[in-house]
Amino acid sequence: MLSILIRIGSIASLAALLSLSSAPAIAQELSANDDPAVQRVEPFQVFDNLYYVGARWVAAWLLETDEGLILFDTLYGDLTDIVIDSIRKLGKDPDDIRYVIVTHAHFDHIGGAKRMQDEFGAVVLMTEPDWVMVDQPPEYREYPKPRRHLSVSNNSTLNLGRTRLSFYETPGHTPGVLSTQFTVYDNGYPHTAFMFGGAGLNFDGVERTQMYIKSVQNMQTLPGIEVNIPNHAEAGDVFARYERLQNRQQGDPHPFVDPESFTAWLAQLLVMAEAKLVEEQAATN
Ligand SMILES: [Zn+2]
Repeated sequence: MLSILIRIGSIASLAALLSLSSAPAIAQELSANDDPAVQRVEPFQVFDNLYYVGARWVAAWLLETDEGLILFDTLYGDLTDIVIDSIRKLGKDPDDIRYVIVTHAHFDHIGGAKRMQDEFGAVVLMTEPDWVMVDQPPEYREYPKPRRHLSVSNNSTLNLGRTRLSFYETPGHTPGVLSTQFTVYDNGYPHTAFMFGGAGLNFDGVERTQMYIKSVQNMQTLPGIEVNIPNHAEAGDVFARYERLQNRQQGDPHPFVDPESFTAWLAQLLVMAEAKLVEEQAATN
């Protein structure tokens, strides 16, 4: 799950965010989050080869290749219908899903993975530490456990047709958060996109916080990231950017191509994580 971490107005609100972030899911929010009628979003194309097929509060993305589809995250429960319906509404066939990239093993991302295996024969990819999580009691909610498929590690790649994904282990939010770099095309013009697979600070402990900080620092060294593809829409202003995309005039830049905001977001996450580390260290003393 994603904690609320988007804008820091002051140290006071930062403190509020940090204390919120360690709380379990808020009950009254969950019903709206779980309701497909509330959560349904019409799918939309963002780049030549990338489509939004997720819900309001949690994202799923479809990457089209010359040899089939790659799905990032699966939602959960009834919300997985949104993903499947969205793929069909876009005129594509869920049977063409070759790979499902699960960003981390929390129910809101992994919950539909077994269904993707059972109904469409998709191959599910996660990191080893998060496959281990699948065999443990869930942190938030139960979900149908996917069969163990592929385990991907840091700096590995996956090719499907002419499309290449580069994987990074960016632990912290879970022990094996999976982040992915890939190329998106705007009217044929390539841009480097990145999906940070788990930005939320809703976890506990000094060690995990240190892992998170190291992950963010590692991502800060990656050159040339131009597009932030978040696994919760709010973390990358997905819907606001899509509004601007619909109103884009010829010659305007693509609203999702925004390297400065990606850099700023990572810097903001680092500030928040470092504040969390101080809190976590204080709690152990
Ligand atoms: Zn999560």
